[in-house]
Amino acid sequence: MDLDLNPTFVHATVVPILYLVSAVVFIFGIKGLTRVRTARRGNLLAAFAMLLAVAATLLDMGLVDYRWILIGLVVGGAVGAFAAVKVEMTEMPEMVALFNGCGGGASALVAISYLWVEVLEKPHPLNATTASILGTDSSLSTALSILIGAVTLSGSVVAYLKLQGKISGQPILLPGRHVINALLFFGSLGFGLWFATLSTDPTGIAIGALVVAGLALVLGVMLVIPIGGADMPVVISLLNSYSGLAASATGFVLNNNVLIISGALVGASGLILTQIMCVAMNRTLANVLFGGFGMQEQVKGGPASEYGTVRSYSAEEAALILESAESVVFVPGYGLAVAQAQHVVRELADLLEARGAKVSYGIHPVAGRMPGHMNVLLAEADVPYEQLKEMDQINPELKETDVVIIVGANDVVNPAAEKEPGSPIAGMPVLKVWDAATTMVIKRSLSPGFAGIKNELFEYPNNIMIFGDAKEVLQGLVAELKQAAAA
Ligand code: NAP
Repeated sequence: MDLDLNPTFVHATVVPILYLVSAVVFIFGIKGLTRVRTARRGNLLAAFAMLLAVAATLLDMGLVDYRWILIGLVVGGAVGAFAAVKVEMTEMPEMVALFNGCGGGASALVAISYLWVEVLEKPHPLNATTASILGTDSSLSTALSILIGAVTLSGSVVAYLKLQGKISGQPILLPGRHVINALLFFGSLGFGLWFATLSTDPTGIAIGALVVAGLALVLGVMLVIPIGGADMPVVISLLNSYSGLAASATGFVLNNNVLIISGALVGASGLILTQIMCVAMNRTLANVLFGGFGMQEQVKGGPASEYGTVRSYSAEEAALILESAESVVFVPGYGLAVAQAQHVVRELADLLEARGAKVSYGIHPVAGRMPGHMNVLLAEADVPYEQLKEMDQINPELKETDVVIIVGANDVVNPAAEKEPGSPIAGMPVLKVWDAATTMVIKRSLSPGFAGIKNELFEYPNNIMIFGDAKEVLQGLVAELKQAAAA
């Protein structure tokens, strides 16, 4: 069969079909990410869809100078590979924040360079406006792409610096910030509309675009600095959504359907995640964005002197309780990630199951430092997916549970969320571990968690503390149970 591969056929048929297939594979990829079991496959599918989209774009462009593309590929690939190998699991949220920022920044840069080539480098009749050069739709989406992309870039950099502790996690509440933000927003939007539709001078158009980018960069900083560290999960998922919207707007600029679709998918899924995070922390999005919430109190609860009677057990003593437990729930938290104790948790769970105990894991939606942090860690240790239970599912079961082992978690099991209306975490749904017969908290000291507050659970009569690094303590428990089994 003769394949007609003339350029018209490629542009009119092959490229649109490749884009369509790529868009459909993106949708299946995102669908795969909704379940732990299929997440890896979903990720691979989405990467494959991206490969198809890139191949289709290059095919569409025909013969181009590949030198810059190759340089970009090598430099970007090297930075990505280096970051992926070097980054610690505990630094993932920072990496995600930076990736969001790169996505937004890339969209804004593509829109600016498009404007540059179409408006500044090509001759136009005198008094031609951007709208008459690019078309009204394209010029408006260029303005939006620059605006949203720049907000995402600077907002993500601030989120990154907050998570890294390079700037304070405390909300920075400037006086009159709502007025300043409104001025910046309407100012950049106004400039955007002006350069997109009214400006007649190419230099004016370029200056307008740069002013929009500048104002939007300041707006991004202003939007994120008032948000406290504890609300960062919401901000990160919102910025993720913005990066998708920026990409989608760039899709309209370039008239590229697959970019519009994939950007919209990221935008929508980021918004859904934002909503889930808000519900998990019992905040409304408006509270997070405008309320200066997520304030970490100046570290209270740090010194042991704040605590009354706290019972400290050795691994050997704790193992005696575990030997007779018929049901055990593990509650992992940020300390599990720090100690990289996921494999030992699995080993201990296997030993308990071998003794006949029923084992499950209570997963709080904001445990750790990024959405899904605990799921990722436990999946690494091949913990059976069926044993992972979300908060609403596990809470009623805790009353019937013999032992809850809290591994490096603190805020997500703090009763203050329910019992102290003035607490910074008041109203946040938490795992009601105190309903179980015994709780065992594994952590190195009585230091507070992310929210910086005391945890009265440590003083409860049915709680015991096993102080130490999570991995070492769990290894101790594993050794004890193995000895008991051999005896
Ligand atoms: P947490 O409240 O931050 O507590 C973690 C505990 O782990 C600390 O009290 C620490 O106590 C202990 N720890 C640290 N290293 C350890 C080690 N090597 N071995 C044993 N323990 C160790 O953590 P969480 O209960 O998971 O709660 C998450 C918090 O982070 C929430 O406040 C949430 O709002 C916030 N947050 C979540 C996200 C997200 O997307 N999930 C993002 C940003 C912020 P010691 O120092 O005494 O060992």
